[in-house]
Amino acid sequence: MTMTASKDPIPKICMFCQNLFEARKSTTQYCSANCAKKAYKDRKRQERIVHATQENLEKLSAPLKELQARDYLSVEEAATLLGVSRWTIQRAIKRGRLQTLKVLGRRIIPQKSFNQFLNNQYNESHATQTSQVQW
Ligand SMILES: [Zn+2]
Repeated sequence: MTMTASKDPIPKICMFCQNLFEARKSTTQYCSANCAKKAYKDRKRQERIVHATQENLEKLSAPLKELQARDYLSVEEAATLLGVSRWTIQRAIKRGRLQTLKVLGRRIIPQKSFNQFLNNQYNESHATQTSQVQW
């Protein structure tokens, strides 16, 4: 039993491109500097997404269940329930697809119209046989 020199290449699988490569060090994770850079960028992007999602959840004043039980929703809350942007909801309102009320200058969506809207969306997307739903 002889001590093998750590200079011997170690067969490894790149954590980014999944290619087999020979590493000089046992701690090497990527086949190239390029892969290491791309993996780093990926990780950063992932972190940003996670961070943004957490921020959104924190902004949410009420849990989804509570929102669903309410008689009225704000535009933001309707967007949250559907997992779409505020602009998508506003577009639907502009096109008259989603009925709203204006109370003290604030636009609110009665739960009834919200459900009606969802039903219409459901029926339309089934009638046209496309996955493209027109908001
Ligand atoms: Zn690679």
